[in-house]
Amino acid sequence: MNSSHRRRFIAGAVCPRCGAMDKIVWDMDADRRECVACDFQEARPQADSVPELKTRVNRASARLVETQAQPVRLMDPTIDASDGDD
Ligand SMILES: [Zn+2]
Repeated sequence: MNSSHRRRFIAGAVCPRCGAMDKIVWDMDADRRECVACDFQEARPQADSVPELKTRVNRASARLVETQAQPVRLMDPTIDASDGDD
């Protein structure tokens, strides 16, 4: 019973496997997302800099997940918030 994994639900995320909504959790330690309704697991897609480095078996499915997970932006390092024009 060692729940050391920190997880947070991804609001609005739909599981590509079972289709359940709001069942996707982000495992911050494992750096992947999981579905609590089924045993779906997927490692975090690499940042935009590395689009298709890995060899995925089901690319179509993976792309679908990325699209649906778009509204969930934990952080975007490309956004420069320090736009001080003084
Ligand atoms: Zn699921």
